[in-house]
Amino acid sequence: MDVNTLNIGGMDFNVVAVLVTVTIFAGVLGYFLARRKAHKESLLQPASPPKDYTVFLKGIQYILANDTDQAIEAFSKAVQINSETIETYVALGNLFRAKGEIDRAIRIRQSILLRERVDAETKLQALFDMAMDYKLGGLLQRAISTFEEVISRAPKRLDAYEELESLCEATHDWQRAYELQQEMRKLSNTNNQHIMAHLRTEQAKIEIEKGNLDSAQAHLKKALSLDSHCVHASLQLGELYWLKNKKKKALAIWKKLVHKNTKWAHLVLVRLQEKDGAADEETRVLDFLEHIEEENLDAVAQMSLARCFMQRNRKEQGLASLKRSLEMEPDLAEARQLLGEILLEDGDEAEAVSEYRELLSHLGPARKRYRCQQCGLETDKILWKCPGCHDWDTVQPRKRNG
Ligand SMILES: [Zn+2]
Repeated sequence: MDVNTLNIGGMDFNVVAVLVTVTIFAGVLGYFLARRKAHKESLLQPASPPKDYTVFLKGIQYILANDTDQAIEAFSKAVQINSETIETYVALGNLFRAKGEIDRAIRIRQSILLRERVDAETKLQALFDMAMDYKLGGLLQRAISTFEEVISRAPKRLDAYEELESLCEATHDWQRAYELQQEMRKLSNTNNQHIMAHLRTEQAKIEIEKGNLDSAQAHLKKALSLDSHCVHASLQLGELYWLKNKKKKALAIWKKLVHKNTKWAHLVLVRLQEKDGAADEETRVLDFLEHIEEENLDAVAQMSLARCFMQRNRKEQGLASLKRSLEMEPDLAEARQLLGEILLEDGDEAEAVSEYRELLSHLGPARKRYRCQQCGLETDKILWKCPGCHDWDTVQPRKRNG
């Protein structure tokens, strides 16, 4: 039995099918109750069983038997027999969507939108459903424009803002995503400034790619004014100053970041690993590295620090960092491999072989470097928004044995 099935009385049911059935059943029940009332009110009309009743029941039976195709056919017939049952239309649309038949789902929504005797609220929901169909069908721009229409008709509909915002993120429209977060903040009165800081930082990264460094700087300053603890923004602001050849400022920002939150030191050091510059700047970088050395660095940061020292011909300091790294985490394969390489370079083959032997004895299943505190997703790459639970800032460096 997979996660999408329910076991009722020893039989497995598809969860989507059961939900759709419940919706349809409620709609059908409402419809027949209304008809019964109409029957009672009209003494002239003879009481006869509704023709479409059996078709509905058949449809429900098919759904319970997981036969979506037959169910769709039965419901389609029912809708033709009586075109006033709007709930059936809605449920039929949802059934098509669940089956991945997006075109047919969309046609159903369109037919609801075009009907005259349908109230505004039902039409609004059909528009929302249509936007969801587009999204699930991968037609993101259409989904965006349809959600835009939903919020223009219903400016207080928070779920539409949320859907639209996540689509703007997916299509990298950071400006619109930011504006939507502003609206959502007003509507729900929740603190989302940390998210807004990430969105501004993403926008800054695009400006940097385009070469608009001043505009990028404005975005990053705004990001840090929204959330002064935003690691993403601090890292990027340092990078920006580096690009602007203001290396002293870049290093000052990174130094502050590491001091405030040592667990992120490796991200700064990895950036420095890739950089080299003129001799006077190198002195500044070495000062920075020596200062960082005094912080309470974790094994991964110590290893990055070792690489930074090695690159700048500070072998002794590099080896010291590397050994500290391995003392903290003996099975950190990357560090042991680096140590082996250094020993080989030095011609110390016996020591190198012993290190590699040690490396083999510590090889186990690869441990991911980051873990989401919310949903447990594990990753080797830092992700500011978790792709599992879609929360921001929940992915954190894993602690040793954590
Ligand atoms: Zn998560």
